[in-house]
Amino acid sequence: MPFHVTIIGAGVAGLTAAHLLQQHNCSITLIEGGNRVGGRTFTRQHERHLEEQGAEFFHPAHHHRLRAALEESGLPAQDLKDLATLWVSAGKGKLGDPVHPEIKALCRHIDTDVALINPHRWITPETAHLDRPFTEYLAKHPASDTVHSEFLAWTGTLTGADPQEFSALGLLRDFKMFGTTEAALTAVEQRIAGGTMQLALSLAKPLMPQIRFETRVVAVHEAVAGFEIITHTDERISADAVIITVPFNTLHQCQFPGLFPALAQASRNRHTNRSRKRWFDPETIFNPRIATDPTSLSYLDVTASAGCIIAADEISGDQAAAHLDLPIAPMASARSHSWQDDPLAAGAWMTIRPGQALVLDDLQRWSIQNPRCQVAGGDVSPIWPGWIEGAIAAGTSAVTRLIQSTTH
Ligand SMILES: Cc1cc2nc3c(=O)[nH]c(=O)nc-3n(C[C@H](O)[C@H](O)[C@H](O)COP(=O)(O)OP(=O)(O)OC[C@H]3O[C@@H](n4cnc5c(N)ncnc54)[C@H](O)[C@@H]3O)c2cc1C
Repeated sequence: MPFHVTIIGAGVAGLTAAHLLQQHNCSITLIEGGNRVGGRTFTRQHERHLEEQGAEFFHPAHHHRLRAALEESGLPAQDLKDLATLWVSAGKGKLGDPVHPEIKALCRHIDTDVALINPHRWITPETAHLDRPFTEYLAKHPASDTVHSEFLAWTGTLTGADPQEFSALGLLRDFKMFGTTEAALTAVEQRIAGGTMQLALSLAKPLMPQIRFETRVVAVHEAVAGFEIITHTDERISADAVIITVPFNTLHQCQFPGLFPALAQASRNRHTNRSRKRWFDPETIFNPRIATDPTSLSYLDVTASAGCIIAADEISGDQAAAHLDLPIAPMASARSHSWQDDPLAAGAWMTIRPGQALVLDDLQRWSIQNPRCQVAGGDVSPIWPGWIEGAIAAGTSAVTRLIQSTTH
């Protein structure tokens, strides 16, 4: 009998794990709560252009795993339009410049803390003091109000959340992944041609017979031999090992041996990112723009025929447009997907609150100690959490650990 692994969630992490396990001659079942693959990569066609409701950008100089996956799948990348970014604050319409000398000096200050971060651990004794609200952390760094405000606007593009709510440790981890703070703020982005969801579709193509759609897992129990997976219809599925890749914000809805109380509580509290994309038909071409307080940004799609605003779910499209000083019509007909209200996501990309790094570190340790029942979504990966790159890293590490456990 081949070693049988059940993977929960058919986003990029779950599909990566399934793809690799098949290469190791394991038999797999992929259980997906929704009716499609891709999870938070979700491309929709609108008229003649594509609109990304979820992930959209990657950084080819930094996201090596994703680049390799695109090459393997034969998917080309696409450059972004080179337009000057406008940052908008109370004094609307100033030109942002991440390499301004004062911002560069602030970046160098922050880099002394970035250097303390161990990319393989969520939190260590050396970085525990960084686990506090980002505004509190930033206040201790010398710079003018304008520079602080401009810096917050730029970082908002990485975190999509309120800087009073997200942990400095989470954002500094992002900077660490890019190498330095300035590298994070100036990194060149690309899109996946044909839409971000192409990656998931390509990974899923040979796996389709093994994917069970519209089946939500509610529990994973240890059994005499291996595990028993229980679905929302009370069906019981046996497996030698389980890889759980559901989003952090929904983890508490699935009982499994590693769901310790602090983790369940942190998942219930959700991470801080409540971003929602609203796609609209702009009357004129406009420059990309970002704003802080509240964090929001807007840009044109690659064909310049649709615009997108990203702002917190609870901010209306019209409010966000006014805040960004956008020359557009009312947003009533904007096309959108609420990740907050989506029961299979319950939030956008991972942006941790203070205190959550501790439970993620415990969870990571638990997954390392229990290679036959791991949690391995992109949200819980200490490598590039909140990015597609992190989802690929998580799926890959889980399979490496599992295969090692079967050969020892
Ligand atoms: C608005 C937005 C913008 C983003 N922008 C970018 C970006 O520009 N670049 C970037 O790299 N990343 C971006 N991301 C983040 C990126 O999409 C995620 O980090 C990545 O897709 C996570 O992959 P995953 O497989 O870990 O999780 P998911 O994609 O969330 O997959 C998890 C899967 O599990 C399923 N599931 C959930 N619960 C259950 C259950 N109980 N039983 C069975 N199935 C279940 C879900 O339906 C889903 O298919 C963005 C995300 C959002 C929401």
